[in-house]
Amino acid sequence: MAPDEKLARYRSMRDFDATAEPSGDEPLPRADDRPRFVIQEHHATALHWDLRLERDGVLVSWAVPKGLPPDPKKNHLAIQTEDHPLAYIDFEGQIPEGEYGGGQVHLWDTGTYDLHEWKDGKVQVTFHGRRAHGRYALFRTRGKQWMIHRMDPPEDPAWQPPRDDWRPMRPVHGPLPDGAGWAFEVAWPGQRMLARVEGGRAYATDVDGNDVSSRWPEARAMAETMGATQAVLDAIAIVPGADGRPDSEGLLRRLGATDHTVRRLSRDLPATITLVDLLWIDGHDITHDAYRDRRDRLLGLGLDGPTWQTPSDHEGDGAALLGAAAAQGLPGLVAKRVGSPYRPGERSPDWVYVEAR
Ligand code: MN
Repeated sequence: MAPDEKLARYRSMRDFDATAEPSGDEPLPRADDRPRFVIQEHHATALHWDLRLERDGVLVSWAVPKGLPPDPKKNHLAIQTEDHPLAYIDFEGQIPEGEYGGGQVHLWDTGTYDLHEWKDGKVQVTFHGRRAHGRYALFRTRGKQWMIHRMDPPEDPAWQPPRDDWRPMRPVHGPLPDGAGWAFEVAWPGQRMLARVEGGRAYATDVDGNDVSSRWPEARAMAETMGATQAVLDAIAIVPGADGRPDSEGLLRRLGATDHTVRRLSRDLPATITLVDLLWIDGHDITHDAYRDRRDRLLGLGLDGPTWQTPSDHEGDGAALLGAAAAQGLPGLVAKRVGSPYRPGERSPDWVYVEAR
């Protein structure tokens, strides 16, 4: 099929007076013969990455909801989409809302690839990009559904998946510790969770390991802004009242949400995902690192947005923070040893819950 015929579907789906995307009539820019690829991060209704391979005058395309898998043990879904014109290889910008694929597109990576195999339903390539490297196989499972599999070992040899059995670390109750080596955080009343973020999605579990992802769409909104960063975060979902302080009645209503009411409740009683710790980041378990180092990594992620925040901790004057918490009607503070590791699922004297009175 000639490129023009292959692009018929692409063109039929778009109004080129409304979108800045290329129509496919652009002159072809290149002569060198190594085929190119592009991966575009596309913040459409659902975040995904569009993988496009130059082939026979068009860009053969897949939408990959979680992006390229870094780990050969974990394949990712890839949905084949319509062939795109070659000029799409540098496209980035805003596709107008209401148009097909409305949302922001930016170039996540471009480069060339070595072709090992291209058959109906099976493609094998090695990427040479700035971010994407290594050999991958795409294979069709059913209709437009494909999977993408990394054939090389993880690019980072130390890369390890996070553990599924991690649960939040818990404090003991006690008096305010004195002496140096403690950091103090406000004890936020809310739902404690671990949020696993991957490919712009958040999978959240409570202290017992129950899936609470659908209860807190605010966590997903946060995950979308994290792009390809993968992390396991310790967080507390709090529900602020009209005065901005955590509202226990609002929290109870959010905890009682059903699949039918969660959308309305999250609009009427929006939660704030309050991030307190970081257990794993981009293939690295950091639970053995000191609290101070984990917190610095967490703060470095800059996770502050409309429905999420990373409040600072306070080293030093615990009594002052306890007084301030009491004055604000907050339940107390949590003192944490700055040199201590994260002990998933354990109740540890390295963390002390101090009630305000
Ligand atoms: Mn797309």
